[in-house]
Amino acid sequence: MAGSVNRQVLLKSRPEGAPSLDNFELIETPRPQAAAGEVLMRTLYLSLDPYMRGRMSAAKSYAAPAAVGQPMVGGTVGEIVASRHPDYASGDIVLGFGGWQEYALSNGAGLRKLDPAAAPVSTALGVLGMPGMTAYVGLLEIGQPKPGETVVVAAASGAVGSVVGQIARIKGCRPVGIAGGTEKCRFVERELGFDACVDHRAPDFATRLQAACPNGIDVYFENVGGAVQEAVWPLLNDFARIPVCGLIAQYNALTPMPGPDMFSILRKRLTLRGFIVTDFAAKQADFIRDVGQWVRAGRIKYREDVVVGLENAPSAFLGLLQGKNFGKMLVRVAD
Ligand code: NDP
Repeated sequence: MAGSVNRQVLLKSRPEGAPSLDNFELIETPRPQAAAGEVLMRTLYLSLDPYMRGRMSAAKSYAAPAAVGQPMVGGTVGEIVASRHPDYASGDIVLGFGGWQEYALSNGAGLRKLDPAAAPVSTALGVLGMPGMTAYVGLLEIGQPKPGETVVVAAASGAVGSVVGQIARIKGCRPVGIAGGTEKCRFVERELGFDACVDHRAPDFATRLQAACPNGIDVYFENVGGAVQEAVWPLLNDFARIPVCGLIAQYNALTPMPGPDMFSILRKRLTLRGFIVTDFAAKQADFIRDVGQWVRAGRIKYREDVVVGLENAPSAFLGLLQGKNFGKMLVRVAD
């Protein structure tokens, strides 16, 4: 039987610039009880994602900030340990949004039952979850890749970028990754099957990227912004498409970075379109069908970086913002 204590990681304060461990607090509270119509979930996996940096801040965004003094928000895979909800029974494994804590209550809204026989349940937070779907809709709906084209994606060993490049390859394109360090680059080329991967920390990064893209770039899946974007920009072909997915290199910036060359957006008739994965909720079934099949067939590989223990969530999250994670960052909260 599970314990009577609920360990939680609270957002203690909002960061100025880069977040630190001081912005979090680990506390113990009594394990909550499910009221009528509720379930109690025991967190098995907590997803750590770059968007959480935005939730730590009160700046205007597409989603409300996390509340100071409350558990940090986050997607979870959990086991139902008590149910007073007609649709769920003890033992069900569900995808939910339980946050950074060992136990969470839910009235069932937004929960999705998972079939552990279909795929490892952790994949519901990664390759078969929000990051995988982000890659799928961002590349196919906005990037509109065509066979033979060069598709460049940064954070290429990560949750989103790894799927972007592998779908690009499946669609007959030439995927070129950008990643931090030789080990990640080797993984992207050898394990994920990208045509090339360029280390953005190399001093001659821009020259190497140019050499890896002899025909220019047709789709740049924007995950990071900053210096990487600057190196990509001159290589864009006419009519290139840029799904603007994330700008992780700029999330901690206190002052705005110089923007893209807006004139070339006009001159080359580039399409640049921000998107939020939830805009494409209607594509959920297509995504699960296609990517589920590709994962089962071994055509899409995925890598998870699992730290054990809720107490390690803050340091793992800070590491993710510095590129220390290698693959989809997860916290193993319980066996
Ligand atoms: P990852 O698993 O890729 O982890 C983050 C990675 O970003 C790090 O490992 C690091 O990889 C890279 N990174 C961090 N700082 C920098 C930097 N300064 N310059 C270059 N690269 C850096 O995360 P995800 O796949 O979950 O997310 C990737 C992007 O997609 C993020 O920007 C995220 O915000 C965005 N996103 C957007 C969504 C949407 O709906 N629009 C939904 C989901 C994610 P490396 O060491 O290789 O550089």
